[in-house]
Amino acid sequence: MPSIAPTGAHLIGGDWVTEGPAGTGVSLDPARPDDPVGEYPLGDAGTAADAVSAAVNARSAWRSLSFGARSRILEQAARLFDERADDLALLCTVEEGKTLAESRGEATLAAETFRYQAAIAKMSSERIFPNNVPGETIRTVRAPLGVVGVITPWNFPILIPAWKLAPALAAGNTVVWKPASDTPLLSVAIAHLLHDAGVPAGVLNLILGPGSMGGAMVADERVDGVTFTGSVPVGQRIRDVVTARNGRVQLELGGHNPCIVFEDADLDLAVAGAVGGAMGATGQKCTATRRVIAVGDIHDELLDRMASAVEALRVGDGREEGTEIGPLVSSGARAEVAEAVDAALGEGAEAVAVNAGTPDGPCYYAPTLFSGSPDLSICRDEVFGPVSTVLRVDADDEAFTLANDTEFGLSASVFTNDLWRIDRAVHELEAGLIKVNAPTTGSEIHAPFGGEKNSSGHAAREQGDTAVDFFTRTRTAYIRPGTSR
Ligand code: NAD
Repeated sequence: MPSIAPTGAHLIGGDWVTEGPAGTGVSLDPARPDDPVGEYPLGDAGTAADAVSAAVNARSAWRSLSFGARSRILEQAARLFDERADDLALLCTVEEGKTLAESRGEATLAAETFRYQAAIAKMSSERIFPNNVPGETIRTVRAPLGVVGVITPWNFPILIPAWKLAPALAAGNTVVWKPASDTPLLSVAIAHLLHDAGVPAGVLNLILGPGSMGGAMVADERVDGVTFTGSVPVGQRIRDVVTARNGRVQLELGGHNPCIVFEDADLDLAVAGAVGGAMGATGQKCTATRRVIAVGDIHDELLDRMASAVEALRVGDGREEGTEIGPLVSSGARAEVAEAVDAALGEGAEAVAVNAGTPDGPCYYAPTLFSGSPDLSICRDEVFGPVSTVLRVDADDEAFTLANDTEFGLSASVFTNDLWRIDRAVHELEAGLIKVNAPTTGSEIHAPFGGEKNSSGHAAREQGDTAVDFFTRTRTAYIRPGTSR
């Protein structure tokens, strides 16, 4: 076991619980699967219920604490994310597979998220309204939701928890956090960090185990809201369960993100943006570029240059200097990508580039660029790996129609120097995140983030100063002076 890996344990009511009623899980390193990272206890529905009870018990004291006191704990957490960034990054690379640079970026942005949400908590989001009744004041007040369930995926195992935990805690909620099973020990390291920063017993509870344990937590009537990032089927199931019992739900799900390259585009920018957007983090970003739409004659040169760039990518162990693309998170994830690629080939897609330098290993998959038609299943279904397809259209209208022809609406990008096209993109692309002359991936922690259509539904936005909206109830108070004494 690497020295950086903490002892696997649930955190329930301030206690580290190393025994799991459902046995023991093993965390694997996708670059070196024969060298397990460590073990962790597997919880079940009873573990989830214990954690919810702890969160219920801690609720009143935490919400009564002043916002200043809660902010100070978040600021301390931010300092610890900075101090421990190297260790967190190494553990992230070891469990998830991404490069050390990518992992370190996550740790740094997590620190920034906690710092930002600590500051936002000190600014009033209440409003005061004029009133027809003399002497009466109308104002909105915000109350914490109560107990919040936080369910996170493995692909941004430091940053996505930070996006959710920081505003949830700042607003006075207590939390039960169920992280993905592929990155359990990193979650334990983050829970330790928050515990060390001063988050009181029961305010943050961590439970490790299978999806079914998350399902039990979601179904628990005492959980007032659930914020979930992950796949569409799981998210939709959670939405149905939580809304049926009048709970609040926030979903960040999959994407099938288009990148339109117009004829007037700067090709250097477009090639770097499209390849980086498609292949970065081994294509395991919800915002990854899945379809590149080339408008008119630019198609052939764009395809050639993208193919050369894909072939030149350095694929390997994320710990090694110079690696640009790591392995996929698991052999199961690799099998899913391989199956989708085989289906695409069977449907007539042409593989124009397959990275030949990709190492052998159960989790490695060669970055692959396809040329084909929009009817391919790979152009409709999210394939969570280093695979993208270049499509050709003749006119702008066709490009916008094709870009929006998807059940998803997470991110989209355009490469052009034409202001009219930029204006059209900003207004017509059906995506929560629109990038101009930049990849579909990447966002800033102080700006709202979220998707449309099946990518998020009608969920409140994450990040930025809008993050508080999901984690609080707004009440409108009409206040008249009483009878004078
Ligand atoms: P997943 O849906 O398999 O798992 C996500 C989390 O849900 C995990 O913690 C898992 O254990 C838990 N879970 C599984 N079944 C559950 C159930 N029945 N009840 C409650 N919890 C359950 O997703 P994943 O494979 O971890 O992540 C990849 C997916 O996440 C991709 O589809 C990707 O697009 C999406 N994603 C979206 C965003 C976004 O912001 N929109 C960001 C990152 C990832």
